[in-house]
Amino acid sequence: MNEMNPELLASLSKYGQMATYGLAVLAVLILFGHLIKLLITKDYKAKYDYINMYEIKLLWRASLLLIIAGAIYANTLVSESGMLWFFVRIFVSTMFAIIAGVIIQNILKFYYPFYIEKRLKYLRYEPRISPDGRKMRLLSEEEEDVYLDEGMQAEENAFSIDYDVWIDEESGYTHIEKYNGRLTALKCSECNYQTLKVTNEEIIQSPTVTEEGELMKHYSCGYCGHKERKSFSIAKLRQEQPA
Ligand SMILES: [Zn+2]
Repeated sequence: MNEMNPELLASLSKYGQMATYGLAVLAVLILFGHLIKLLITKDYKAKYDYINMYEIKLLWRASLLLIIAGAIYANTLVSESGMLWFFVRIFVSTMFAIIAGVIIQNILKFYYPFYIEKRLKYLRYEPRISPDGRKMRLLSEEEEDVYLDEGMQAEENAFSIDYDVWIDEESGYTHIEKYNGRLTALKCSECNYQTLKVTNEEIIQSPTVTEEGELMKHYSCGYCGHKERKSFSIAKLRQEQPA
């Protein structure tokens, strides 16, 4: 029983090729869909959020499908009909698929974010256009407070949230965008990769009217696993205005 039934082998090969094409088409559709979405999303902020949330996930999914397709395809190429060869081919192609998967995963996790970060920076800081068609100006941290309500300011001061305030200096029109600092990676002090992210924020001490509060941010590095925490102070509560 060292030979495999040639008919069985032929039909396996046929189905293998069909699966290969199916998976490859699916991968191409994912990539194509992503490209279309990037092209039709004109709003900078919407594009920023979309890239931030989905780009790496979609690239990983497409890569995975292509790797599996490649591995299946490799098994349909050889016509050697020995049973042993059949299993050796499956084993070797699986190993290659795993190696390819690990390499691509590492690229997407540790190198690709640099490239994404660059595009995100552009999308975040490229001047917004006011309804009147004028270029708006991004206010600095000090200038923007006037335009943020108290809740927004508290969020900014305490949590990993950034509000960008754009202003049309001629008409006074303002446009506010909210950014989640938890999604943005910082440079890790251990491995120097830009893979340090906030994992948790806890209020150690709530602020009162007389005293500042304390907030602890916990960070974790996605590359080397380095963990650190930093304490931030939360501004005193404002005295209620007497009615
Ligand atoms: Zn690190």
